[in-house]
Amino acid sequence: MAKMRKKSDLPTKPCAACGRPFAWRKAWAKVWDDVRYCSDRCRKEKGKVTPPHPKG
Ligand SMILES: [Zn+2]
Repeated sequence: MAKMRKKSDLPTKPCAACGRPFAWRKAWAKVWDDVRYCSDRCRKEKGKVTPPHPKG
């Protein structure tokens, strides 16, 4: 029989920048509803203006 147990029951949500699901963190306990990015890097990536690509 295969193991079907999860390591944890922490909630997850997709990152608004990279789209990858990230798990609840203790640091986000009070702001989990407000968290949209998996990391500061993604938040900055999303916040900064992306310059137009000169070439594909
Ligand atoms: Zn991300």
